[in-house]
Amino acid sequence: MSDVKNLVACKECKMLFDNEALKQSGQSSCPQCGGQLTKDWQGYLAVVDFEKSEIAKTMGISKNGKYALKVR
Ligand SMILES: [Zn+2]
Repeated sequence: MSDVKNLVACKECKMLFDNEALKQSGQSSCPQCGGQLTKDWQGYLAVVDFEKSEIAKTMGISKNGKYALKVR
């Protein structure tokens, strides 16, 4: 896993992505939902089993992955 500073968050689904990997694949929007990506996010949540995670339920997460807690 790369440095957290290289991660960008989706404004829509809050999922985190590796900025370098996105650049290399030519992605400029969220690969998950097509939402806008931002570096302006705080907090970090790794969801490994969304069906059993209360936080995931609260946040409306329906897929395992890494998420930003706060996205501006
Ligand atoms: Zn998204």
